[in-house]
Amino acid sequence: MGVFALTGGATGIGAALKGQLLAQGEEVISVDIREGDIVADLSTTEGRQAAVDGIRERAPEGLDGFIPCAGLPPVARPLSLIASVNYFAVVDTVAGLRDLIALKRGSVVIVSSNSAPMASAGDPFVQACLAGDEAAARAEVETRDGHTAYAGSKRAITMWMRRNVVDYAAAGVRLNAVAPGITMTPLAEQVFADAELGQAMKDFGEMTPWGGTAQPDQIASVIRFLLGPDAGFVCGAVYFVDGGTDAMLRNDDF
Ligand code: NAD
Repeated sequence: MGVFALTGGATGIGAALKGQLLAQGEEVISVDIREGDIVADLSTTEGRQAAVDGIRERAPEGLDGFIPCAGLPPVARPLSLIASVNYFAVVDTVAGLRDLIALKRGSVVIVSSNSAPMASAGDPFVQACLAGDEAAARAEVETRDGHTAYAGSKRAITMWMRRNVVDYAAAGVRLNAVAPGITMTPLAEQVFADAELGQAMKDFGEMTPWGGTAQPDQIASVIRFLLGPDAGFVCGAVYFVDGGTDAMLRNDDF
């Protein structure tokens, strides 16, 4: 059986994925700020290093897959935390584990969002992320709003994934992303409860062509597919799991 590591395994999509992988007999190393095999704050460089070191120690023979799932919602404050956790922690942990994943020709599934296309590629916050300048990205995002911080962080990490597909493939690592729509997790509950964004988010959920919102297991099962042998030639894909919302909003763009 395989060895997988993930961040954000304490609740929501990460916890559902951990449960599914364990149920199919895989070994799972879970990193989270709350609880897990490795407790680390991924908003800091020290926490990211502790996560990478802890995973290396537990999987010296390599990883079949890595899923940097930890993320913060648009209502998280300060906004700079969203930049650090949703973008920089993902890049640093994926890069820090790259050789370990390559040992097993493993794969990475980035957890994007169907909000990613709502931020423009040229947005200064997105550009500061892609330039790898965490201080500049954190400063820029503090002048913006929660939606831009969240969608921008997901836009940037998805562009980072696509830009790195060739290089990682040459090294023996398959990169893909899943882009969920609203999924009923503690993160979504925080947004629903927010005075400013809650109603807009509920209205957005009601527009879903297939109806309703996702359950964490419906996102986790697609991540599990992308990690596994049945998706062995899927490389560089952004897989929307959002009940048709992205297709509704951007039907000619894919
Ligand atoms: P969640 O809040 O249930 O889970 C997020 C996990 O990340 C938590 O266990 C939390 O403790 C952990 N985490 C947060 N900050 C951390 C830090 N600094 N260091 C380490 N761990 C930290 O949320 P979720 O909905 O399961 O989100 C999982 C991923 O899915 C996120 O990247 C999120 O952006 C993405 N996503 C969620 C939705 C949704 O509607 N729920 C939609 C699109 C994308």
